[in-house]
Amino acid sequence: MNVTFFNAKPYDKQFFEAANPEFGHQLKFLEVPLNEHTAVLAKDAEAVCAFVNDHADAAVLRLLAEGGTRLIAMRCAGYNNVDLKAAAELGLKVVRVPAYSPHAVAEHALALILTLNRKTHRAYNRVREGNFALTGLMGFDLHGRTVGLIGLGKIGLVTARILKGFGCRVLGFDIQHEAEADEIGVEFTDLDTLFAQSDIISLHCPLTPHTFHLINDEAIAKMKDGVMLINTSRGAIIDTKAVIKGLKCEKIKYLGLDVYEEEGDLFFEDMSAKVIQDDVFMRLLSFNNVLITGHQAFLTSDALQNIAHITLQNISDFEHGQALTNQVLP
Ligand code: NAD
Repeated sequence: MNVTFFNAKPYDKQFFEAANPEFGHQLKFLEVPLNEHTAVLAKDAEAVCAFVNDHADAAVLRLLAEGGTRLIAMRCAGYNNVDLKAAAELGLKVVRVPAYSPHAVAEHALALILTLNRKTHRAYNRVREGNFALTGLMGFDLHGRTVGLIGLGKIGLVTARILKGFGCRVLGFDIQHEAEADEIGVEFTDLDTLFAQSDIISLHCPLTPHTFHLINDEAIAKMKDGVMLINTSRGAIIDTKAVIKGLKCEKIKYLGLDVYEEEGDLFFEDMSAKVIQDDVFMRLLSFNNVLITGHQAFLTSDALQNIAHITLQNISDFEHGQALTNQVLP
């Protein structure tokens, strides 16, 4: 099938081209994001392959359908940026990669926790400048601390296993109760208990109308003083302005983000020569206890291999009229 990729980066091209000989699709890689202005570039592509910050709203989907597209193949797990109802009305099928490496994201959450705690990013710079003073680098033992995980799906469960290995007490909140969580030793609680008892809170639920701004002023007020907050899920689960207030009054002592609610205007691009116009983001960067990575939790070679293989398989299944096991329905 003819497949047009939007927002394609060199690593996407590398891993998709390596996986494609098995599938034999015609791949066209575009660097531009998918939006109302660029959708026409996919004319005659039966499948469009998009990523987390592409805009697949009703207007864009209509343009794609008019150009001959029949399949939207998301090369990611989340699909909050696709108007599924509009896609169904236009006769477009939507597929995704529900699991490619929960380890990649869980391990990145741990990287944020460990870096914020032991301040290795600051130590690295100090030592390179010949400054071996330790003042300001004190951390705490993870062993014995309580970590609350919101969302105990694939990534949340891997995170729970890793944290158990560190000797943490792990609390969990999810709208479903997987037996695997009990086997790992996660204590299921309600959200209020999780907020009140956790030294570290890590988000692993999807962005839905129910989780939008789940971490707001009210939730932060219920948290322990000095809490560490980690978000590797989706930016808008956190109300950023509320979190900034929490940082200013030192209720939140550490913040680790891989995602940001307005990341669409910033992430995945080199902005180093530009003036960043997002004042809320720049305020976040001004805190020395805030660590931000630009949506890179998925970025391991293992995950990219799996993403390419599963996406191309999804496209082949569609081409051959087979059951779409990874289809997303409204
Ligand atoms: P998953 O579907 O396996 O698990 C999500 C869990 O969240 C499920 O158990 C579900 O029941 C639970 N959940 C849903 N609504 C909830 C709510 N209101 N409150 C509490 N729990 C709720 O998904 P996953 O593979 O574990 O991924 C989790 C999220 O991580 C994805 O939705 C995506 O947004 C994010 N993600 C980020 C990256 C990255 O690079 N930063 C990569 C992959 C996934």
